[in-house]
Amino acid sequence: MTLDELERYDPDVVDECGDRAVVVGGSVAGLLAARVLADAFDEVVVLERDVLPEDASQRDGVPQATQIHALLEAGRATVEDLCPGYCESLLAAGGVLLDGASQFRFYGHDEYLADGPRRMPFYAATRPLFERVLREHVTRLPAVTVRGGTRVTDYLLDDTGTTLAGVERREGTAEADRLPADVVVDATGRASRTPRWLATNGFAEPPVVDVPIDVGYATVAVERPPEERATTLAMASAPRTRGEAVFPVEDGTWLVNVHGVAGDHPPTDLEGVREFAASLPTNAAATALDERSPVGDVHAYRFPSSRRRRYEALDADALPDGLLVVGDAIASFNPIYGQGMSVSALEALALHHALASGGSRALSARFFERASPVVDHAWEMAIGADASFAPGDTTVPPHVRAFTAYFDHVMRAAQEDGHLREALMRVIAMQDPPTALVHPGVVRRVLAVAVGNARARRSTTGSDLRRLAAALGSRFG
Ligand SMILES: Cc1cc2nc3c(=O)[nH]c(=O)nc-3n(C[C@H](O)[C@H](O)[C@H](O)COP(=O)(O)OP(=O)(O)OC[C@H]3O[C@@H](n4cnc5c(N)ncnc54)[C@H](O)[C@@H]3O)c2cc1C
Repeated sequence: MTLDELERYDPDVVDECGDRAVVVGGSVAGLLAARVLADAFDEVVVLERDVLPEDASQRDGVPQATQIHALLEAGRATVEDLCPGYCESLLAAGGVLLDGASQFRFYGHDEYLADGPRRMPFYAATRPLFERVLREHVTRLPAVTVRGGTRVTDYLLDDTGTTLAGVERREGTAEADRLPADVVVDATGRASRTPRWLATNGFAEPPVVDVPIDVGYATVAVERPPEERATTLAMASAPRTRGEAVFPVEDGTWLVNVHGVAGDHPPTDLEGVREFAASLPTNAAATALDERSPVGDVHAYRFPSSRRRRYEALDADALPDGLLVVGDAIASFNPIYGQGMSVSALEALALHHALASGGSRALSARFFERASPVVDHAWEMAIGADASFAPGDTTVPPHVRAFTAYFDHVMRAAQEDGHLREALMRVIAMQDPPTALVHPGVVRRVLAVAVGNARARRSTTGSDLRRLAAALGSRFG
């Protein structure tokens, strides 16, 4: 499900339903969950094992934060609904606003896409800044407390053994103690231990789907003149295993990323990164690295597979009630598609509506049922695109492969038609469902580009479509 298909946030639909909720993990998914839980619980305690920095510096618990993070429009709009003023705060803290239709150069299938017809605001910042500004907004809520330097070591069950009753936590080097709660949310990221805890406590583990991609990232910051906004994305796209991205961020810098999938990883030293950049499809990364001074070291990151834990597939009584799982702990996607934070935001919206439709009773099953279609969209986009690197892989369903093949046609046509770029971007940004790309107006434009017929792009009738399809058929036989 995408933003367009979900009901937006409405604080009036949620009633008070419990004393305390605990969120384990104070990163983006945990903070967003805390934000919506604050409408329903007297107290929401976020427990984060890292000591949290005042500024936007890196921390150990989120090692991927050295890499470029794009906040897609579905995520941005949802965060803004949940935390009014978020985008303004981001800009005040140094974030960069640019026009995603004209200043964001998107390279797909060996050509840049045409500029879009309408402005599309795009907010760029480092991952630590996105998180710090979110933390500032969420901790302003009287119900929310964020405790850094506190590790959760266990979940606690009630006397019936069927419902979560809280967590065991350890603050710094102090003795572990117990914190009772009506609801516990696991937001500990991809390394979540909930599946193992379930197995050792007599519950069922969720089925896991792993789709290998073996992507390697290398990213370095370089100086950027303050007025420059140029942004480039050229993702690895089969059969080309290499890609690049150059994003403006705060403190007068660009983050320059080079990446390679299917084991074609970039080197992790500056000279090696420069050489790798020279092999890439555009000159964006190479030019930035040649012409601008680096700020700091090269940061590398490896990501083996997209991974999904299907909690929604478990029977309701196979899970303790009161246990929720959000963010990367449910699903982590090949990062080149930039989906994780936005999926976390849409999951927070799913949690909001699950709370609205029955409070904390039997909340787990209602939440996982609502979160699953949100994950579906991002998951199918990511594994569908990645399937082109592994044509024989049977983990990718045929309908996903078929859609990806059509998606590629739209991408090629968007090199000439800015309206198609806009339609494509809205799907990639999880605003519109993929079915938006088979709307007759879009199909007509795709066919018109394919047969080189500019007038047909503006025509609307079914017979026009049939004529274009026939022309396409005769051209490609
Ligand atoms: C290389 C890379 C690039 C990415 N690029 C993008 C992008 O462009 N756009 C995008 O939207 N997403 C991107 N993502 C995904 C994004 O980083 C995550 O989706 C996002 O951080 C939300 O994750 P999370 O909050 O679920 O988990 P995480 O960010 O992994 O945070 C988990 C938190 O839990 C804490 N924790 C763990 N165990 C405990 C414990 N026992 N007790 C207390 N605290 C604990 C950790 O310290 C950490 O703070 C990228 C990911 C990678 C790997």
